[in-house]
Amino acid sequence: MMTVGILGGGQLARMLAIAGAPLGLRFRVLDVAPDACAAQFAPLIVADYHDTVALERFAAEVDVVTFDFENVPADSAQWLSERLPVYPNPHALAVAQDRLEEKNLFLELGMATPEFRAVDSLEDLQRACTEIGFPCILKTRRLGYDGKGQYRLHGTADIADAWAALGRVPLILEAFVAFDRELSVVAVRGQDGEFRAYPLTQNWHTDGVLSLSLAPAPQSEEVAALAFECAQLLADRLEYVGVFALELFERDGQLLANEMAPRVHNSGHWTIEGADCSQFSNHLRAVVGLPLGSTSARGVSAMLNWVGELPERAPVLKQARGYFHDYGKSPRAGRKVGHATLTAAYADVLAENLAELAAAIDRQAQIAPALAALGLANTAATEPRPGS
Ligand code: AMP
Repeated sequence: MMTVGILGGGQLARMLAIAGAPLGLRFRVLDVAPDACAAQFAPLIVADYHDTVALERFAAEVDVVTFDFENVPADSAQWLSERLPVYPNPHALAVAQDRLEEKNLFLELGMATPEFRAVDSLEDLQRACTEIGFPCILKTRRLGYDGKGQYRLHGTADIADAWAALGRVPLILEAFVAFDRELSVVAVRGQDGEFRAYPLTQNWHTDGVLSLSLAPAPQSEEVAALAFECAQLLADRLEYVGVFALELFERDGQLLANEMAPRVHNSGHWTIEGADCSQFSNHLRAVVGLPLGSTSARGVSAMLNWVGELPERAPVLKQARGYFHDYGKSPRAGRKVGHATLTAAYADVLAENLAELAAAIDRQAQIAPALAALGLANTAATEPRPGS
């Protein structure tokens, strides 16, 4: 019986623990918050991630360590990796924790990125704005997530405010990309180097937070091949083990790499019901050294994030293939408290079901982009039904 230790006890750890049950896995979770929602499914150690006494206890109770969020202190990951297997490895985690290092690696691997500059002073920021032009976006190199630690600049008048808002830590300035679509590759690499990617996912964000995902992303065969190649290059270079997501902007058929998330990812939640083997199961298979599962999609899926509070669950559950996920968290503005996935064999059926749901739960604005994208869909999963 193997016990998997997870640093971070949020919804990702919770969904890992749920996915691990049929594999006979046990879990321990370490989190600073006593009400971490993964504790509803796995024993929780409440401690700071730097607390070596707690880490010692955690290490003694588990066989392998993984993460539910990327901002685990790199030295704690390193400390654990000197005692037991840690996946992904601390180097991969450290690269993904730093937007500048990450983008430099993308370039080194031949991937295109939005133009960027390191910013460590007000003078750097002024120079970088002149070189990159407006609009642009200033981000903290570390500890940013869901659009936090970001400031958009529209002209020189914004420089002072942007610096005042973020200027106490190392920063990166990026060109603001007027993208056609946001896409992500969720992929998994095993201990033996085997690589598998889920079909490309199209994503929509609201205020920097993921709102909606659609998979397989419509009209994506060529971009998907390029995106998978990038993801594999990255995973191989980092000797990555487990699931990760590569977030991309598509503009005029070109892909620009935005960032890498070294963990199971919100844009992969649709895989629970919409793929042969979910990202959570595949992550666990990778970290405990079991064969990877199929990443093929079962039809077409849309995933809706519930941010702030949950809607009524009945309208989702009434759908033939509607799945409701409640993370067991208390409602709070901006907090991810659950999600729903709708799957269908055909894009037109998914569109009909989504339209029905949008009316029933008053989420038209959240669902509308999927309806528009499905209307234009032209992928294998959206072929006319046999006989029609
Ligand atoms: P991030 O934390 O970098 O993933 O940013 C959150 C969201 O902000 C992204 O998913 C995009 O919607 C938007 N965003 C971030 N960086 C850029 C950029 N350079 N150009 C345009 N939009 C961006």
